[in-house]
Amino acid sequence: MLAHLWPIPCAGCGSEGKLRLCLDCHPSEAESFEAPEMVAEAWAAAQYGDPIGKAVLSSKGRGDRALAIAIAEAVAAPLSAVVGSVDAVVPVPSPWTRRIVRGFALPSVLAEPLAAKLTVPVHHRALVAHRGPRQAGLNAHRRKQALAGRIRSPLPVSGTILLVDDVTTTGATASACARELLGAGAERIVFAVACVTPQDADA
Ligand SMILES: [Zn+2]
Repeated sequence: MLAHLWPIPCAGCGSEGKLRLCLDCHPSEAESFEAPEMVAEAWAAAQYGDPIGKAVLSSKGRGDRALAIAIAEAVAAPLSAVVGSVDAVVPVPSPWTRRIVRGFALPSVLAEPLAAKLTVPVHHRALVAHRGPRQAGLNAHRRKQALAGRIRSPLPVSGTILLVDDVTTTGATASACARELLGAGAERIVFAVACVTPQDADA
């Protein structure tokens, strides 16, 4: 790992140091939240407004891959400690047009260290998303309608699947993904997210 020669601000709290995300901003434990429809259990490493939440928004806004990797490493430990036994990790898909704009898909980046800790594979292509209308501004019902038709599970899956996303607000995306995975052969869906936001935040 390259050492920085000058202090850099932590993306979570702004304090200057050598890490993109200082150790004080690493979440110590994950908490369960109300599972979206079709999902058995849901776990979040952080809440909206927490340092991790700020770092997630910053990495997405700036297309900051190094920060995305730092976030993934920070949330893998608390999430892997609570999700129990799973057979594979599947990231929530991003439409490829948005992935190109950002240079990476944060759920896919989050999936890697989490799967490594759980010693299970990541199935990056178990779900695909076609381009659809932007979600911001849509209410929960409209989001669900917009998403349900554009997330597809093109490959067979089995067992317990750990679905991973960066941020969840209404859980509508997770429900649409879970429905597809169950339809493709999964027995049970557990959902892990870096940051859960209140419904009115619309992050
Ligand atoms: Zn910090």
